[in-house]
Amino acid sequence: MNTRFELSDRVKNLPPYLFARIDKMKEEAVNKGVDVIDISIGDPDLPTPEHIVKAMQKAVEKPEHHKYPSYIGMLSYREAVAEWYKRRFNVNLDPTKEVLSLIGSKEGIGHIPLAFVNPGDIVLCPTPAYPVYAIGTLFAGGEPYYMPLKEENNFYPDFSSIPEEVLQKAKMMFLNYPNNPTSQTATVEFFKEAISVAERYNIIICHDAAYSELYFDNKKPISFLEVDGAKDVGVEFHSLSKTYNMTGWRIGFAAGNAEVIAGLGKIKTNIDSGVFQAIQEAAIVALNSDESILDSIRNIYQERRDTLYNGLKSIGLNALKPDATFYLWTKVPQGYTSEEFTIHLLDKAGILGTPGNGFGEPGEGYIRFALTVPVDRLKEAVERMKEVL
Ligand SMILES: *Cc1c(COP(=O)(O)O)cnc(C)c1O
Repeated sequence: MNTRFELSDRVKNLPPYLFARIDKMKEEAVNKGVDVIDISIGDPDLPTPEHIVKAMQKAVEKPEHHKYPSYIGMLSYREAVAEWYKRRFNVNLDPTKEVLSLIGSKEGIGHIPLAFVNPGDIVLCPTPAYPVYAIGTLFAGGEPYYMPLKEENNFYPDFSSIPEEVLQKAKMMFLNYPNNPTSQTATVEFFKEAISVAERYNIIICHDAAYSELYFDNKKPISFLEVDGAKDVGVEFHSLSKTYNMTGWRIGFAAGNAEVIAGLGKIKTNIDSGVFQAIQEAAIVALNSDESILDSIRNIYQERRDTLYNGLKSIGLNALKPDATFYLWTKVPQGYTSEEFTIHLLDKAGILGTPGNGFGEPGEGYIRFALTVPVDRLKEAVERMKEVL
């Protein structure tokens, strides 16, 4: 291909996009008129609750919100975040120093290595995982060191297997519980272990808690920040996207260690200008929502989880039963790779899942199904799968 403008090495060196072939197959199937059940994407199908939309409608009319927002977020938003942490996790945060608004948590996760990672520094990244941890690292010139999440270790990294010289060179470690894609949740013991590694080697922990409010059977996930010593070594990233069906609004926050928050803030003041204040006002209303609204969202996902989990089981497919997130991390049947099984389901049954290896090599042997379609579609998906297994 003739190119006039050569891409930067950082773009040329991006890991291959493993879903390209499957994206193309989906497009072909849809064009042929196949009724595809797409359970591949982690984007809620449910609308943002009405009281939040109403708050936005009111806020958008106020001229004071039409100006550049504050870089770090309105104080009232950061206070609402601190109050939410206190109520939900009994964690105390100073809203003036320990909370920062983000244009969605992906933005903060993608940018934070720029604040602390020099070329050649190591960043510990889980795998399989949300791709942004490693890509943010690469864009900052850092080197991801991949920590495999294996079923035999309950999908936690095995810190004892990381070589000493890697730990010495590591600046930062990303963790994510409740986990995408495996759906595993964290224990206090696990976070304690991570904190002791971070203490010993001076590593910043960046914990991604995007799914903390999407839990089942009232098993509330813990926050990294509620564990002793967490705030000395790290921050937690949060998002309103999954909790309140607000993926399109682009608002999240980072909370925790004041130095780390200030470092990320420095990057942001130089490349963005904050979150539209009307969105922050609506987000304050969201964070103060009546729990009954979240319960009704959780009930919808729980019914879907039970439908799909039991359905898969009845046809001989083993999924990890999630306590949180809206994903079912499912073993592919014997004789298939992740990609082969994904293509088989799309081709023969019009069902689109996400091949596990797309999240990193140790995801091979799994397929991820998302609970982002209604129960009747999940029932139909199970029926169709039964025919082609
Ligand atoms: C969806 C998701 C996010 C990001 O969400 P934002 O919309 O950018 O706040 C972050 N981490 C994980 C693991 C996710 O799945």
